[in-house]
Amino acid sequence: MREALLHDTLSGKLMPLRPRDPGRVGIYACGPTVYSRIHIGNARPFVVFSLLARFLEHEGYEVSLVVNITDVNDKIYDAARAQGRASGELALEMTELYLADTDALGLGRPDHEPLASQTIGPIIEYIQTLIDRGHAYTAEGDVYFRVRSDERYGILSHRQLENMDQGEGAPDPAHPSRKEDPLDFALWKGRKADEDTWWDAPWGEGRPGWHIECSAMAEQFLGVGFDIHGGGSDLVFPHHENEAAQTRAARGGELARLWMHNGMIQFTGEKMAKSVGNVASLHEVLAEHGAEAVVMYLISGHYRQPLAFSQAALEQARANVSRIREAGRRLSPGESPGELDGLRARFFDALAHDFNTPEALAVLNEWIRRATSSSTVSPGDSHLREMLGVLGLQTLLAETAQAPAEVRDLAERREQARGARDFAAADELRAEIAQKGWEIRDVAGGFELLPR
Ligand SMILES: [Zn+2]
Repeated sequence: MREALLHDTLSGKLMPLRPRDPGRVGIYACGPTVYSRIHIGNARPFVVFSLLARFLEHEGYEVSLVVNITDVNDKIYDAARAQGRASGELALEMTELYLADTDALGLGRPDHEPLASQTIGPIIEYIQTLIDRGHAYTAEGDVYFRVRSDERYGILSHRQLENMDQGEGAPDPAHPSRKEDPLDFALWKGRKADEDTWWDAPWGEGRPGWHIECSAMAEQFLGVGFDIHGGGSDLVFPHHENEAAQTRAARGGELARLWMHNGMIQFTGEKMAKSVGNVASLHEVLAEHGAEAVVMYLISGHYRQPLAFSQAALEQARANVSRIREAGRRLSPGESPGELDGLRARFFDALAHDFNTPEALAVLNEWIRRATSSSTVSPGDSHLREMLGVLGLQTLLAETAQAPAEVRDLAERREQARGARDFAAADELRAEIAQKGWEIRDVAGGFELLPR
């Protein structure tokens, strides 16, 4: 088991992963707010933390990955109101679409995916504890967290109190703020007349604030002081700062031992095919480029860096995927040559060093170059299968490798015909492949050949 080094936002340093419970790693990553279909930017934390979990499992840890679904939030009420729909119905539909869209990435599901709406009991208890301990107060049906009661407030985002804005307007534009202090943030929002989803609480009808939802959902599955809290870098303040403050105030300890944040996807303003505005929804990008290419694109940059979204970047990812698939066809099933062991080790070392996927991909490409440069023998694919498995790209080595050369050749010709939009020729080639006892299936970024 390698010791993983991970960049921790709180300390600002690379820190060794030393799990709370030896051999076990608990990860909580903030999931989407389900008010519309998710975009490619929401897919980045999903992919980064799913693959981090895979890597740690590969290293021998028992990993529990929790990715929540925020299905109670201002954005959902606003979107539902704008569409003249019930907020609960909109949230349910968007939750189902989120599950379908992320399923299509082919990475499986997190171990737990709690919904805020299913965690209301624990959230209310949590808020009551904060009130009882003097860290929160009720105000005309709302409940607010008293930020100045937490001496460590600001340690995660490295901000001074004076420079903080919770991003919450006055609870009711017609009335002055109910907060004791503008720094305070909402734990519970009293029901407004036009809000159609609410719950009963000791301080009145309403719904929880976003930050307390995550503290409660994380604790339900991982307890306090779990190993890694993740999410996009846009969540450091106020969301994660507030989650951490709530946990210190209610539980007397830190929520997580390490805080990992992924960089944002940058939309350059380039007009994307099949996208709305300049924000591409995940299902559209998947339909256009395929799951393997989308995963490849998302791991092509270091997770902490911003990642530019462009047609060229996705085409590049597609080309990389095709090249690996093609290389796979030149390998045979079985043990890889021992002289490539060092490259295999370097691949996993790169992931152990702050989950450096671009470095790992460079090593993987070097492995392919070396493995396929020997002219006569076709080397065993075990290393490549193992590396691709950790990246969620194991489908690039399907049974295709088993098909005879003439069938693979027909399949390649069919790919070219499809590329040229000559679908009649492609259909003929499919029939020819079938006559030879193989079925060709279109998969993301290429094809797969299965014995019939
Ligand atoms: Zn969260």
